[in-house]
Amino acid sequence: MYYKLKDDLRLRGWELLSTGIVRKLSEEVSFMPTEVYRALQKACGSVPINSPLFSPKEKKILDELLQEGILEKTDTPVPLTPEQKYRLYPNRFLYSVHWSITGNCNCRCRHCYMSAPTRMDALVRGQARDVPHLSPPTRMDAEPTLEECLDIVRQMEAAGVRAVSLTGGEALVRPDFFKIVDALLDADILINTVMSNGLLVNERTLDEFERRGIKPEFNMSFDGIDCHDWLRGIPGVEKAVKRAFKLCKERGFPTGAEYCLHKGNIHALRDSVKLLGELGCQTLKVNRLSLEGEGVAIADKAITRDEEYQAYLDYIPQFYEDGAPLSIMLAGIFSNIGKDDYMIPCEKNLEDEDCGNYCLCGHARSQMYITPDGYMVPCIPMGSVEGGRRHFPNLKTTTLSSALQDSYYMDFIDMRLRDYFAHNPGCESCQYRNRCAGGCRGHVAAIGGGEDLLARDEDTCGFFRQGWYKKITELMSSVLSKSSNIG
Ligand code: SF4
Ligand code: SF4
Ligand code: SF4
Repeated sequence: MYYKLKDDLRLRGWELLSTGIVRKLSEEVSFMPTEVYRALQKACGSVPINSPLFSPKEKKILDELLQEGILEKTDTPVPLTPEQKYRLYPNRFLYSVHWSITGNCNCRCRHCYMSAPTRMDALVRGQARDVPHLSPPTRMDAEPTLEECLDIVRQMEAAGVRAVSLTGGEALVRPDFFKIVDALLDADILINTVMSNGLLVNERTLDEFERRGIKPEFNMSFDGIDCHDWLRGIPGVEKAVKRAFKLCKERGFPTGAEYCLHKGNIHALRDSVKLLGELGCQTLKVNRLSLEGEGVAIADKAITRDEEYQAYLDYIPQFYEDGAPLSIMLAGIFSNIGKDDYMIPCEKNLEDEDCGNYCLCGHARSQMYITPDGYMVPCIPMGSVEGGRRHFPNLKTTTLSSALQDSYYMDFIDMRLRDYFAHNPGCESCQYRNRCAGGCRGHVAAIGGGEDLLARDEDTCGFFRQGWYKKITELMSSVLSKSSNIG
């Protein structure tokens, strides 16, 4: 008898994380202690199970790997396939990329931070590559060519990226969308989410995904019952997106949603959440209207930070009264955990932790956003303003793997809380210093223009120092004690 690595497992390693095992087209990635990994590699060859070449300790490890389903037994030696063989990527591990494959869109949203042009606008301005016309792009190059996209896929493969979420603009407006999907799948990169406005989420699109054996989540904007079309700039989008949610539910594709809160749709939040729950939507993120890109033209509809937080405080009891219809995240200050618990996502650490060496932005260590014009930034808020993205590397001048070895991106993800405190001495002495941990750098860039990425995040600061943190914890202790009394 011999050991054999399960068919869909591959041996992979990255700088600082050299003992990885991944499952083909799956979210699974794990890292093993070196001695376990060595025993595993030794077993994936032609040494018989009962060979004295395996020490008693190794035999014990291999028994456990058999039980965990990583190894199986065979009658004859089965060498690793070329895909399974160990591959070492020279760069740091990056689990997933959120990738804007186009800046073009079929909507006309009044708040679009990209000022995304429609395909027709883009053709007229010469931004689409299929017309030989050279007028300058607006805020971002509208659309990378297919060849440029395929090159980015090759770069992701060379850097060992495991998953992507596709976005735009509107990702589905690309006629070659499924060529990009196929290239990703061929490169063993899982597509876990497609962000969309829903207009092109139809039977045909879902058929194409199903034919490839995948069911990504469709994450679609929904900006309120009877309010959606106003923000989206085109009549009929609300009807279309509701149809898209319903269709995904019927066909077993998971869905999530985003809600942009403003004066015109605060009143619709409760009923909209209930509706989304009925439509099978599993997650919802709510944030207030941000005044970037086209959004500056509708500044009169914007609400302030305090109005936003108050709206959430008013809504949270109703959310539980309605049976917590889905998983909700309210501007990073509240997130439910099932029907009877919650967390405050922006509360990063405990009061008495020694946090100086903690990373300033842990999220960017595992996830990157690539803008339509090739900037590699930590997240959409950072990429949404020129002042934010200009700090970061661009795929036109370097490669993803190189950027993950030495670039400002690496400097950014290696920034520590002590660097932040050195930059903001007032924060070091603040009673909330550990809980707040400086807030979110992307938010700082989006609101402040990105000149000083180490500046204070005023929204998070206000949440803690203006009493909102206290109010929400008090509110939740009353909401949860009422619901446990009822239970
Ligand atoms: S759907 Fe998104 S990309 Fe398209 S116009 Fe609206 S906000 Fe912009
Ligand atoms: S609450 Fe404000 S002052 Fe305190 S650590 Fe956070 S940003 Fe700094
Ligand atoms: S800067 Fe903020 S939004 Fe961006 S990745 Fe970090 S925590 Fe997330």
